[in-house]
Amino acid sequence: MANVNENFFDLKNSHVFETVLKKKNEYLEKNPNCKLIHLGIGDVTLPLTNSVINAMHKAVDELGKKETFRGYGLVPGYDFLRKKISEYEYQKRGIDISSNEIFIADGTKNDAGNIIDLFSENNIVAITDPVYPVYRDTNIMFGRHKIIYLECTEKNNFIPQLPKEKVDMIYLCCPNNPTGSVLKTKDLQKWVNYAKENNSIILYDSVYESFITEPDVPHSIYEIEGAKDVAIEFRSFSKLAGFTGVRCSFMVIPNEVNLYNKSNEKVKIQNLWLRRQSSKFGGVSYITQRGAEAIYSEEGMQEVHNNVKYYLENGKYIKTELKKIGFTVYGGTNSPYLWVKVPKGETSWGFFDKLLNEANVITTPGSGFGKCGEGFIRITSFGSKEESKEAIRRIAKVVNVD
Ligand code: PLP
Repeated sequence: MANVNENFFDLKNSHVFETVLKKKNEYLEKNPNCKLIHLGIGDVTLPLTNSVINAMHKAVDELGKKETFRGYGLVPGYDFLRKKISEYEYQKRGIDISSNEIFIADGTKNDAGNIIDLFSENNIVAITDPVYPVYRDTNIMFGRHKIIYLECTEKNNFIPQLPKEKVDMIYLCCPNNPTGSVLKTKDLQKWVNYAKENNSIILYDSVYESFITEPDVPHSIYEIEGAKDVAIEFRSFSKLAGFTGVRCSFMVIPNEVNLYNKSNEKVKIQNLWLRRQSSKFGGVSYITQRGAEAIYSEEGMQEVHNNVKYYLENGKYIKTELKKIGFTVYGGTNSPYLWVKVPKGETSWGFFDKLLNEANVITTPGSGFGKCGEGFIRITSFGSKEESKEAIRRIAKVVNVD
């Protein structure tokens, strides 16, 4: 008899975005002519930039000729892309990360879910609450049930505090989804020191790195002393270059970072990852990697940063206007996300429904990210300027914040 992986029954019934989508579709069925504005799901809306498109077209042409055709690629990624990442994302910032410490993949969602194969199921995991649900769900599916939640609330400025108990795997997301908060150097140094003292590993998700605007927010965890011994960093082209549908990401696994075997001997994470990927991953397409490479030129960088600037300006506008209406709003300065407190007496889902039904604006209920998300909704700045303006106009009409 083929038995089910019982861990799946420990997952919540449905993902928050599935419920949001269901509610949206039900509303549209009843009101087919309604023009909903979607400021919920964190997907980009601006198209790929010229440098990326041109590079991809060229790559397609190369694959169409016998002399330049390529078959299977390299599992860790092509050197041309790994070298550019090392140079532009790290060396230019004075961070010592070499191309052989960079591993290309098809999205941070996948990387964050896949890396956990390397860790023992007995490890204790620390995740924040609220949290990007992938960290929690993938560990539960794997059968790793010892999860410690680090509460991030208004009281601690949404900054995760060190746990009292010893944990082995620590997920940090900065800039944060969903709260938009950031960890400054002193916050991150505490976590790196903790990880060194406890032989833990930090899984540092920095897919929103390009949204950092404040000078005292590190762009990489490797700016922190000692981080190369204890941290793996996840980065993605999704939000940086509009690759949410194209799919390309990278993970930094420093030479120094290790796990421990039963005899307390060090095992290099790089070797384990390569072993895993060789069996389970076919690499990212040549066309995609050439497209990603194209952002690493003066022009390519300028184009993607213009797009990020556009989203940040939207965020600034939405935040300012929501505050004028009377809302308490967090995030938005280093992030595409605004973490908005719902009016007194409302719940996250109740307020989501109100905005859907009365303002025809879709948001994401904070409680979908964990119990500490209750009382908030997440609004994204990924819409167009016009949509953001119209959303504010509609919200102002129907909401009365005390
Ligand atoms: N990590 C965080 C914190 C995210 O919010 C998202 C997407 O919204 C991802 C990872 C997924 O990134 P990718 O598109 O590279 O899979």
